[in-house]
Amino acid sequence: MSYRIGSGVDFHKLAEGRDLWLGGVKIPHHKGATGHSDADVLLHAICDALLGALSLGDIGVHFPDTDDSFKNIDSKILLKRTFDLIKKEGYSVVNIDTTICLELPKIKPYVGAMRKVIAAILEVTEKDVSIKATTTEKMGFAGREEGLVAYATLLLFLKDS
Ligand SMILES: [Zn+2]
Repeated sequence: MSYRIGSGVDFHKLAEGRDLWLGGVKIPHHKGATGHSDADVLLHAICDALLGALSLGDIGVHFPDTDDSFKNIDSKILLKRTFDLIKKEGYSVVNIDTTICLELPKIKPYVGAMRKVIAAILEVTEKDVSIKATTTEKMGFAGREEGLVAYATLLLFLKDS
């Protein structure tokens, strides 16, 4: 079998006074995501999709929030370490499709930078990284700006097969 599909989802609360990191990019906003790491919901969803594609568990297994070495860690490091696990198994990424659900801020101006960051880490081109965004039309926790969600789906390809 040369192809493997993976999916990931992640949630974080939003709070005043935290930095908002999304897709490895710091976005100016009065609220940011809370969590043990920098709480980058998009990069965490991609980590889970990578791990899921090879049935390697989830991000909590590999980077437990009880481990102080991961406190406030840059999630780009977590994504790089996760991708190293995938590479060790001989796989590379074909493409990634993601969706972020949040009410505010508008992330469109930052999507290009996010795609660049993610493509560089996962050794694909920017064209292979899709980042979409939607509001929930003010419904639920995302609509009330209490939190945000990211979904990721990706395809891996076994090289030399
Ligand atoms: Zn997370």
